[in-house]
Amino acid sequence: MTPFPLPATAFTLPFVAPFRGQEQRQGMIVQGPAAGEFAPFPDYTPEQDARWLVAAVEAAVDPATGPGTALPVNAVLPDVPDADLAEEALALLRRTGCTTVKMKVGGRSTGAELARVTTVQRAAGGDLRLRLDGNGRYDVAAARELLVALSWAEAPVEYVEQPCPTFAQMVQLKADSAIPLAVDETLRRDRRFGDLADAADVAIVKVAPLGGAVAVAELVGSLGLPVVVSGAAESSIGASRDAVVAAALASGDRAHGLGTGTLLAADLTADPMLPTAGAVVAARRPVDPGLLAAAESATPPTERREWQERLESAWATALAGELVPATTLAALDAVA
Ligand SMILES: [Mg+2]
Repeated sequence: MTPFPLPATAFTLPFVAPFRGQEQRQGMIVQGPAAGEFAPFPDYTPEQDARWLVAAVEAAVDPATGPGTALPVNAVLPDVPDADLAEEALALLRRTGCTTVKMKVGGRSTGAELARVTTVQRAAGGDLRLRLDGNGRYDVAAARELLVALSWAEAPVEYVEQPCPTFAQMVQLKADSAIPLAVDETLRRDRRFGDLADAADVAIVKVAPLGGAVAVAELVGSLGLPVVVSGAAESSIGASRDAVVAAALASGDRAHGLGTGTLLAADLTADPMLPTAGAVVAARRPVDPGLLAAAESATPPTERREWQERLESAWATALAGELVPATTLAALDAVA
């Protein structure tokens, strides 16, 4: 087995509020001429891990810093209880200047979800576009009920993301939905799908889980749908790489889902990628060695070892599956 050729450091960063049921974000920073982030979620398969690692290596061997232009983004509401939602939304909108806001839906009654939407709408006052993410938690009947309720309420919903888990369910739903739909998990889990335009109006593209910039450029060309590049609750090392990839894609003035920096209570760079005036700066952020050392110390030794093993096994999977683009292998040969 070929050992992983670059130095990698495990990190643990606290979330502001639980995200995907977790209190902390863990992963590894891979260092070459630049830095890449390997931070697959605990429930990911070996193949998903391998794709993420390919993205991290591609970022680590690519020293390009990005255009430094302003990239419009949506703000992300943490999954706070109803009682805290108005205050949280108001603070978030003020701090970020975003008019597009993403929030999770699912797990509550339609009435309760609608009340949360109204709360955010009131907090925003005027200009608001909402992106609701169901993460596949609905069946078709329940999703339909939500979409009809949102439509009747004339809620300012830009789209509902992946309400149902499968491609076939999304197609059924889209046939009579007055509200635009987006696919996210479909692109990564359900790799065998038909014409995506039958299932959604927008495609959510996550750079690291899909395997990096080269993989994303190929995929976007074949989708035939408008694309929103979104983060995966990464530190600013991974998120700023995503922003540079997003800046290279034509997307009109549609906000990207890269305002996730506000979800973390700490970061790995002195210049975190946080939205201001509704945008982030599309430029790679350098690792701050002191902050990385602190985040490494926050990772118990057993977990550091588990991350190193996970990385080695992901690399073996990536090489065996020929998932690493030739350009990345060549750049790696030159530095490692
Ligand atoms: Mg999503």
